[in-house]
Amino acid sequence: MTDSLSKTVLKRMFSAAAMQIRDRSALLSKLDSVGGDGDHGATMVRFMERLEQAMDATDEKSTSAMLKEAGWSSMDADGGASCAILGTFVAGMGDVEIGEELDSRCLSESFHAGLRAVLPHTKARQGDKTMMDALLPAVEALEQAALLGQTTGVAMKAAAVAAEQGAIATRQMIAHHGRAKSIGERSLGHPDPGATSVAILFAAFSSALVGGEAGRRLHLNSIDESESYV
Ligand code: ADP
Ligand code: MG
Repeated sequence: MTDSLSKTVLKRMFSAAAMQIRDRSALLSKLDSVGGDGDHGATMVRFMERLEQAMDATDEKSTSAMLKEAGWSSMDADGGASCAILGTFVAGMGDVEIGEELDSRCLSESFHAGLRAVLPHTKARQGDKTMMDALLPAVEALEQAALLGQTTGVAMKAAAVAAEQGAIATRQMIAHHGRAKSIGERSLGHPDPGATSVAILFAAFSSALVGGEAGRRLHLNSIDESESYV
């Protein structure tokens, strides 16, 4: 059976994200070594691998079922807090019906459903220096763009910009949740690793929707291996 267009597009988005996470895993672990246990890069690589494997093994399933299965099979990929939250998010994305095609409204509804699934599992909200600082504004920006009737590419670009700004903003925050909570004010001046991962994910989703040569470039302005971000 050939995949529906929506399934093909989502697989492409997640495999672009897996590639970008692999490329930046050293940076992610370095960020996690400030207030955490230094494993965030390795954890995210394993998480993305599980997601990709699960998505490849869902030939006969609907797009929603693919997301649900991929999320469920990756939330325990590595025992890290990030897998539980992001796995729940991806599984939640499958809570809405996704048709053959993927327009920005449907994409936004799916990401919203992901957020709805995650919110009961964490007390962290914006300003607490976690991945929620990138995830919440990204989903919000996606929704705004979808309401304006933008294309999926334009809507996801807006989400990627919001996620990156959210990740950068965590540098000025003090961690209140997760392992980094234990270092309190010493987390000031360092971006949160999970928020950085989310910014990378959305940048990759955005690139994947553009396609072609331009789609292989990652639209991240500030997050790279440079000393200025870390
Ligand atoms: P662990 O802390 O279990 O080693 P990771 O290193 O993979 O997990 O991920 C750390 C990231 O997880 C943090 O940078 C933060 O963004 C996110 N995180 C941790 N706890 C929470 C929480 N309660 N709510 C939301 N995000 C969290
Ligand atoms: Mg860690």
